Amino acid sequence: MNNISETYQVAIVGGGPVGLYLGLCLEQAGISNIILEKRSAPRPGSRSLGIHPISLELFKELNIVNNFIRDGVKIHKGHAFVNTKKLGTLSFQSCPKPFNFILALPQYRTESLLEQALTERNPNILLRNAAVNTITDNGQHVDITFKHNGKSHTIRSEYLVGCDGKNSLVRRQSGISFKGQYYPDTYIMGDFSDNTDFGSDAAIFICDEGLIESFPLPNNRRRWVVKTTDYIDDVSKEQLTSSVFNRIGHSLSDTEYNMLSSFGVQKLIADSMVKDHTILVGDAAHIVSPIGGQGMNLGWLDAHDLANILPQVLGNSFQKDAILNQYQKRRKHAAKIAIRRAEMNMKLGRKITTPFFREMMVSLMLKPPISQLMANIFTMRGIEKWPI
Ligand SMILES: Cc1cc2nc3c(=O)[nH]c(=O)nc-3n(C[C@H](O)[C@H](O)[C@H](O)COP(=O)(O)OP(=O)(O)OC[C@H]3O[C@@H](n4cnc5c(N)ncnc54)[C@H](O)[C@@H]3O)c2cc1C
Repeated sequence: MNNISETYQVAIVGGGPVGLYLGLCLEQAGISNIILEKRSAPRPGSRSLGIHPISLELFKELNIVNNFIRDGVKIHKGHAFVNTKKLGTLSFQSCPKPFNFILALPQYRTESLLEQALTERNPNILLRNAAVNTITDNGQHVDITFKHNGKSHTIRSEYLVGCDGKNSLVRRQSGISFKGQYYPDTYIMGDFSDNTDFGSDAAIFICDEGLIESFPLPNNRRRWVVKTTDYIDDVSKEQLTSSVFNRIGHSLSDTEYNMLSSFGVQKLIADSMVKDHTILVGDAAHIVSPIGGQGMNLGWLDAHDLANILPQVLGNSFQKDAILNQYQKRRKHAAKIAIRRAEMNMKLGRKITTPFFREMMVSLMLKPPISQLMANIFTMRGIEKWPI
């Protein structure tokens, strides 16, 4: 075992969007912390794009929201089509102000802005090129061993937070199981230059051959997400553009693209989100289907909740077990609601045998008062309270 080089109240493994945000919250709360991140820079390519109003409210608390708004695109509404027939528009304008929109920003940019805010406040929190390989809970604290610039180091912390994503080493080494299932749904997606008339609006096409989603991105670009019948390993531009053209008659052939990928979808929840001195947050704790764009936002809600209770837990409150237990219950509840909402979104996009019924349902969803409920669901309102 190496000598313990430093001690912290909290060590965070993983400096993705959730670990970086948690580091900022802990810094704000005066809790000493370090983030160990194996990558040298935010992961390129673009996974998430949607920052929901509830997260913008959290960013406002930290005084960092303006940078995100400056760089992102405000989506105030989305148009719904069944095949090429427009059924209506769902507006977020009636959602609570000032954040009555979903902000579209590629994930690497979101991570860069969080990192910038963190290093401006404290340049010593984030340690990049630090790959954690062993964690040992000694009953009183946790020892964490990692490689940095080819050398092995061990640090000690009162609590360890695993923000290390879906394949979390922290979760595996803590012996916490991750249960769930694959859905049958598969998708391809690509970011193209925008040749539509949608501007900053989103568009959802519920087609007989499967869902198409189209979202604005900064710099006059647009993301297309297309449901496929099978998983496509190595997606080509031709596959995506021909699916879009065949289903809705829109041609992307002459537009350039900077990202193409494919994904299958899963739901997974960790058996425990708290075990001894280890806490799991974000994708390490739960995986939600990206359809509906909730995973990263859900992780930020976990982190915010954790940062609120940690001062009491670290203060050696005799109630700390009860506080952590309640925390875990709240986080599992929120994850289950997000999973159910994502399932609803995916169901709408599947091939069905009763098109008339589907059209009626979607039309109903776009009319008040149900449209208000749908706007709340699509902007992740009430994720911690609602029974659906
Ligand atoms: C196609 C797609 C679209 C999506 N769209 C959205 C969306 O619109 N909105 C939304 O909210 N969510 C979306 N998501 C989900 C979102 O990308 C994830 O929920 C989010 O990245 C989770 O953040 P995280 O910080 O928990 O984990 P990650 O982003 O996985 O970050 C984990 C970090 O830990 C580091 N790490 C791992 N192991 C170690 C180790 N041993 N030592 C040190 N560092 C380590 C990794 O390098 C990484 O930086 C989407 C996902 C996909 C696949």
